Amino acid sequence: MTLATLRLNKNEDRRLRAGHVWVFSNEIDARATPLSQFEPGQPVLIEDAAGHPLGSGYVNPHALICARLVSRDPAHVLDRSLITHRLNVALALRERLFSEPYYRLAFGDSDGLPGLVVDRYGDVCVVQLTTAGMERVKTEVITALEKVIRPRAILLRNDSSIRALEGLARYTETALGEVPQTVLVSENDVRYEVPLAGGQKTGWFYDQRMNRARLRAYAKGARVLDVFSYLGGFGLQAAAAGAQSVLCADTSAAAAAGIRDNAERNGFGERVHVEQDDAFELLRRLRAEHKRFDIVVLDPPAFIKRKKDIKEGTDAYRRINQMAMQVLSKDGVLVSCSCSYHLPRDALRDVLLRTSRHLDRFLALLEEGHQAPDHPVHPAIPETAYLKVFIARVLPS
Ligand code: SAH
Repeated sequence: MTLATLRLNKNEDRRLRAGHVWVFSNEIDARATPLSQFEPGQPVLIEDAAGHPLGSGYVNPHALICARLVSRDPAHVLDRSLITHRLNVALALRERLFSEPYYRLAFGDSDGLPGLVVDRYGDVCVVQLTTAGMERVKTEVITALEKVIRPRAILLRNDSSIRALEGLARYTETALGEVPQTVLVSENDVRYEVPLAGGQKTGWFYDQRMNRARLRAYAKGARVLDVFSYLGGFGLQAAAAGAQSVLCADTSAAAAAGIRDNAERNGFGERVHVEQDDAFELLRRLRAEHKRFDIVVLDPPAFIKRKKDIKEGTDAYRRINQMAMQVLSKDGVLVSCSCSYHLPRDALRDVLLRTSRHLDRFLALLEEGHQAPDHPVHPAIPETAYLKVFIARVLPS
């Protein structure tokens, strides 16, 4: 296949040569290769200002990130064969890491599959296509997945708001077989029932797996509060590790019902309680009632989605962490997470330090957590390292 060419302006090849894979619309030589001549998702040969090829990629004239490099070998375009190869490479890592087939199988650019996320639940896959270039090869993605892992069913959760950045419509669709309403995920011997089409994102947050496991080390005999609990991810691990009591809270009614079911499924009985409430309201009320906890877990949704939300979002992180510290016992442990790319690790650490000083408490940082390795980080793309976790001891000053 002869590819159309996308030519970059002078020096705009430097970032790609240094390892990045994104091209921004202002970096294109608009005279030589006007963006308007391309269809969304069209495969292209990307070349530098002097006409030297940089590799193959795909383009979207409507997006700020107007092209993505797919392969540094211009002969390798994003077809079924390349997708199959990259999925096999991705699978090899996950099979080394996990004994059961429950993990994120593909994490976009970090697995050489820009615009593709695949979460695997045994023989069921949930797929997200987030770019026009990936949407265009949807059929190839499905057939490649069939070839690589022979799933029984594939669900497309193309309902993420980030699709708007690419001018893509939002929809959910069964791409193969019959997708079950729910699946059972087992994590560190705790079993969770996870809704697929009706769940959040792809159903389960595999990225927190290691951090949930770390919580267990602190949980024995503790009174635990798990705020933003979703299906009980953190809280039920604490219960399994011998917590005295666990209060899981989420604003979503479906999530709260899911936590109750999951607590029962694991036989935690009266030790687990569930509140359906807004996190800020709940923490205010618990403080007013003089309730105290030995461990508080905070795993909020991204408070900062866009750069312009940084100030307001950082303030929300400050308020929620302050409220969490206010219900901690004298020698308490705070597990504070942020999945906002725009809140760097240092900024979250600073939020914790400032908050502890404001409340006149002494903070000791015990552990730092990251996203699990089935969400690899692309070293040239800081956006791929998004999950930050601090486990901190909060003492009297
Ligand atoms: N800790 C979970 C994942 C949390 S995802 C795990 O380990 O799997 C974030 C959760 O926060 C979602 O379930 C969402 O329903 C909930 N949420 C969002 N806004 C909230 C609010 N204001 N108060 C309480 N929960 C909220």
